[in-house]
Amino acid sequence: AKESGRNNFQYYSRELTAKAVERVRLESSLHRALERGELLLHYQPQVDLEHGRVRGLEALVRWQHPEAGLISPATFIPLAEESGIILAIGAWVLEQACGRMKDWLDRGLVTAETLISVNLSPKQFDQPNLVALIDRILTTTGLAAAQLELEITESTVMQSVEQAGDVLHRLRELGVKVAIDDFGTGYSSLIHLKRFPLTTLKIDKTFVSDIPHDANDTAITRAVIALAHSLSLEVLAEGVETQAQRAFLIDEGCPHGQGYLFSRPLDESGIEPFLRERLAQ
Ligand code: C2E
Ligand code: CA
Ligand code: CA
Ligand code: CA
Repeated sequence: AKESGRNNFQYYSRELTAKAVERVRLESSLHRALERGELLLHYQPQVDLEHGRVRGLEALVRWQHPEAGLISPATFIPLAEESGIILAIGAWVLEQACGRMKDWLDRGLVTAETLISVNLSPKQFDQPNLVALIDRILTTTGLAAAQLELEITESTVMQSVEQAGDVLHRLRELGVKVAIDDFGTGYSSLIHLKRFPLTTLKIDKTFVSDIPHDANDTAITRAVIALAHSLSLEVLAEGVETQAQRAFLIDEGCPHGQGYLFSRPLDESGIEPFLRERLAQ
């Protein structure tokens, strides 16, 4: 048993080394990806569940790797977060998304009420100059603060409740909206929610995927909707894939959703026709 234990250890450490090497390689190529313009945004519509009107667009980053093809953010965002390059990537995403939104507004593809939702990672949220950065990006792109919605997770807020409260208040003073993403999956004590100037709760897709047949997920989804109503927050369900889910959410008082039922995330050339079609309706 001892013998095989040691072999196991050697096996694992070799594997870990290979992983570490792979990680360093990915990190340096992420730097280059940003410099060479290999990152791009896809946009997924957030709609009014009843009528299909576009409430907003969520910006989702992708990496067009010259050899590996399109790489999912689930693969490289955690690495970017660990290495710190998330700050540069995040600033690029914000600038790109706000600039694009302003352009669509000027071209009449969206209205002054349409939102652009941008994901913020924990490290981004903790950076000392976040509010100044966002202020500057809104100024340079010319987008109104009221059209920008930042998506953060419960764990981002709970890392440092005091500091998060301060940042959130300053963001709200700027006029930016703040959504809690993946709501229900974190460990936030719901009691804190009331203290924060939030605007939106996004019900995580792991709950939405099993409504209306799974009793637990149905109960959680109902509870989140009720919580949002009682705190006067907007509520939006993510991962809506079926008409049954859509009908259930409407019945339960969740007015907004996003998911494959309405549209997959689309690149610029895909989202523009989608927006044009919706405007024509
Ligand atoms: P998220 O913020 O929860 O984004 C929703 C994810 O669900 C997206 O995956 C989207 O493509 C996917 N999705 C949308 N509709 C459906 C559906 O109906 N069914 C299912 N099964 N999935 C659906 P994506 O684009 O691969 O992004 C994964 C995660 O990467 C995001 O999860 C977010 O946490 C992160 N991410 C993406 N872009 C950024 C970014 O610019 N900055 C940061 N910090 N994180 C990002
Ligand atoms: Ca999100
Ligand atoms: Ca989410
Ligand atoms: Ca589930």
